Amino acid sequence: MKIKELDLLKKMKHKITPTHPRANSLVIREKLVEGFNNGIVVPHGLIAHGRGEAFDYLLGEKTTKFAYEAEKVAVCLMLLSKKPIISINGNTAALCARDLVTLSNVTKSRIEVNLFHKSTARSSAIASILKKENAIVVLGLDNKSKTIIENISSNRKFVDKNGIMNSDTIFLALEDGDRTENLVKMGKKVISVDLNPLSRTAIVSNVTIVDNIVRVIPNMIKIAKQLVKKDKQYLLRLVNSFNNKENMHKSLLMIKKGI
Ligand code: ATP
Ligand code: MG
Repeated sequence: MKIKELDLLKKMKHKITPTHPRANSLVIREKLVEGFNNGIVVPHGLIAHGRGEAFDYLLGEKTTKFAYEAEKVAVCLMLLSKKPIISINGNTAALCARDLVTLSNVTKSRIEVNLFHKSTARSSAIASILKKENAIVVLGLDNKSKTIIENISSNRKFVDKNGIMNSDTIFLALEDGDRTENLVKMGKKVISVDLNPLSRTAIVSNVTIVDNIVRVIPNMIKIAKQLVKKDKQYLLRLVNSFNNKENMHKSLLMIKKGI
């Protein structure tokens, strides 16, 4: 556990030791509650986390070798892309803002705030957390460069002309299926992080990472630091030999085994 997380444990009302079997999961909840109190996370985000948490429990709360494989391919895709971008929402900002900024630096990806329950105050609060973690440019806040993805009824349709709209690869997490489907239809390569391999987002994405975002991003940073030194052919070979459906099926079998 990192120092910040140990501090969070100490601050918690009901005293939990780092050796508590649910310590990691309780720290994640605490971060989300903190995010909720700071206006970053919405109540719906807390519920969405609950859905993910149930799957994580069955996965033993660890990265499976199949998830790691998907994480590796995701990094390759981001390194190979001309205009990769990371889409950030309230939960992901509350859980791993610093790591998301690091990943964007290592993979040379841009960052865009994109919310289902959109408000200027919340977008700004998320952007300032990211900037505090040294993000230089955060897209998705400027109304002048706002454009719309068609056929989406939620606020997730609003994207930045110079961000998600003109990107070739989009990394997203805890995403809504409607938008994922449309982004794929638009010809974008979509990498998603979703603990539920049965969600629409998981099913339609090009690379689906069935793992908890709090483990995914540090793994991807580590992988990216190694793969950034490799040549294009090496990265392409990894991408071309990956079968997303097969990989997701293996994750599903791990969940079944967990039951
Ligand atoms: P879809 O709209 O894609 O069909 P859904 O409606 O079931 O999915 P949403 O609420 O739209 O679900 O999205 C939240 C998704 O994020 C859930 O599938 C949940 O499993 C996943 N999730 C929640 N917390 C995490 C987390 N910490 N890491 C990874 N995935 C998570
Ligand atoms: Mg949904």
